[in-house]
Amino acid sequence: MNKPDAALLLFGVLILIFQQGISLQVQTPRIAIIGGGIGGAAASHFLTELFNENLNIDLYEGKTIGGRLATIKIDRDEFEAGGSIIHPKNMYMQRFVKLLGLEKNEGLGQEKTAIWDGTDFIFVDGDWISLIKLIYRYGFQVFKLMSHINSLIEDFLKIYDLQDAGQSFANVTALLSAMNKDFPQLLQISTKEYFSRMGFSENLIDELVEAATVVNYGQDVDIQSFVGSIALAANGELWSVKGGNKKVPEHLIYRNKNVNVAPSRVTNIRSLSKSDDSSHYEVTYINKDSTDSMTSTYDIVIIAAPLTEDQEFQIEFNEFPDDFAFPGNYQTTYATFVKANLNPKYFGLKTTFDAVLSCNPNKTKISSVGKLHLVDGSIEIDPPVWKVFSRNSMETSLIHDIFSQVIEKKEIAWKAYPRYSTKVNLDNFKLHDALYHVNAIEWAASAMEMSAVAGRNVAILAYNDFLTKSHNFILDKTREIHEDSKQVHEHIEF
Ligand SMILES: Cc1cc2nc3c(=O)[nH]c(=O)nc-3n(C[C@H](O)[C@H](O)[C@H](O)COP(=O)(O)OP(=O)(O)OC[C@H]3O[C@@H](n4cnc5c(N)ncnc54)[C@H](O)[C@@H]3O)c2cc1C
Repeated sequence: MNKPDAALLLFGVLILIFQQGISLQVQTPRIAIIGGGIGGAAASHFLTELFNENLNIDLYEGKTIGGRLATIKIDRDEFEAGGSIIHPKNMYMQRFVKLLGLEKNEGLGQEKTAIWDGTDFIFVDGDWISLIKLIYRYGFQVFKLMSHINSLIEDFLKIYDLQDAGQSFANVTALLSAMNKDFPQLLQISTKEYFSRMGFSENLIDELVEAATVVNYGQDVDIQSFVGSIALAANGELWSVKGGNKKVPEHLIYRNKNVNVAPSRVTNIRSLSKSDDSSHYEVTYINKDSTDSMTSTYDIVIIAAPLTEDQEFQIEFNEFPDDFAFPGNYQTTYATFVKANLNPKYFGLKTTFDAVLSCNPNKTKISSVGKLHLVDGSIEIDPPVWKVFSRNSMETSLIHDIFSQVIEKKEIAWKAYPRYSTKVNLDNFKLHDALYHVNAIEWAASAMEMSAVAGRNVAILAYNDFLTKSHNFILDKTREIHEDSKQVHEHIEF
C-alpha cells in the first residue's frame, strides 16, 4: 500500500468510527457492591485503586455501614460489640489505619485470663505457678503448639505479596493453596483430628484448643482445622482501632468520592441478555424508608455479605444459567454486655479475673466472660463493663449469679460466623461472568482481615475480567471497522 492509499484507509476508518459512534476507550464501569462491612469497604477501596478512580460504585447497605464491626453504648461509654481484636500481622487492617489517619489501642489481650471447665481452673495466665502447672499438665507440647501456629501465620503472610503483585483466585481453595499447598486439606479434617494426628495429647486439645475455638467461634474442636488454627492465632500483642473498628469501613466508604452509598437492601440480581454489552446485571433494591422496589443496571456486581438461607436479607438470583446454592448456617452467638462487678465466688475463686474462657460450654453455660476496654482504649471504669459470649440467651438469674450490683445489661444475638464442619460449603469467589462473592472466604475462616483479603481478591478478579472484556470488545470492533474499511478502500479504488 502506498502512502496516499494508507491515508485514504485511515480516513475511511475515521468516517466509520464517526458514523457508528464507536468509542475505542475503555468504558467507566458501573459497579454495585452489596454490603458495607469491612469486606465491601475493602473491595470498594481496592477497586478504586485498580481503576485509578475511573469507576462508579453504588454501595448498598441494608442496615449500618460496618456490619459486624459495630459498637454498643453501655451507660455513657462505648464498647466494641462485634469484631473486636486485631492481630499485629493483619496487614490490611494495619495499612487501612495508617492510610485513614486513625489511631490504635495497643496491648490488648494482656489481661489475666483463666481457662475454666465448669469445676476447675485449668490455666491462669500471668501466674508463674500456673505456667509450671501448664507445662506439668501438657509438657513441652505447649511450645510445639505455639511454633506450629507461628509457621501458619508466616504462610498466611504470603498473600500480601501475591496480591500486591496483582494475583487473584477464582475460589477459596486456590487462594489457600497459594499460601501453602497443604492449607486446603485443613478444611477437610476436624481440629481435634488434625492436632491429634500431629501428636498433641487429648487433654491439650480438649482444654487449650477447645477454649480458643469456643471463645473465637462459639464452636467445639470438631470445626475444620484451618479455622481451628486461626482461633489459636488470636493471641499476643492484639490491638483495636481507637474510636471503634467500624471506623475503618466507615472511612473507607464515606471518604471515597467514587462511592455512592445507597441505604437499601438488595432483593434480586438478574442476569441481562449478553447482547447488551454495556450492562450485565439488573439489581433490585428497596430503600430503608420505603416499600417500593427500584432497579439499576451494572457491569460488575460484588456481593459482600453472607448468602446462606438464615440471613436476614435474602437475595434472589434470576435468569442465570445455573442455580446458585449457598448451603450451611451461621452460628448464633449471644453477646451480653453487663455493667457490674464479677462475682468470683460463682467460679469458686476468691479474687476476680479479667477474662474467663470455657473449655466445656455445655457445662459452664457461657463460652467466655471478659472485661471490656472502652473504644478509646481505657479500662478503668467502676464498675467495669463485661462481655459474655454464650450459645443461648442468658437468663436473668444466671446474670445475677455471675455478677453483683448489675447496673445495666444489653444483649445482641449475632449471626456471627459460619457453623463450621469438615465439609466446605462455599468455595467460589466468582459466581458468574462479572458477579463475585467476598464472603466465600468465611468458610475457610471468618475474621475482619479475611474479609479484607477477599475484598481485594474480588477487586482484582473484577478488574482483570473487565479489562479482558473491554479489550475483546475493542478488538472485535477494530476488526469490524477493518473489514468495513477494506470495503471503503475497494470502493474508493473502484
Ligand atoms: C461477636 C463477634 C465477634 C467477632 N470477633 C472478631 C475479632 O475479634 N476479630 C476479628 O478479626 N473478627 C471478629 N469477628 C468476625 C468479623 O467481625 C467478621 O468476619 C467481619 O466483620 C465480616 O465482615 P464482612 O464485611 O465480610 O461482613 P459483614 O460485616 O456482615 O457485612 C455485610 C453487610 O452487608 C449488609 N447486607 C447483607 N445483605 C444485604 C442486602 N441484601 N442488601 C444490602 N445490604 C446487605 C449487612 O447489613 C452488613 O452490614 C467477630 C464477629 C462477631 C459477630
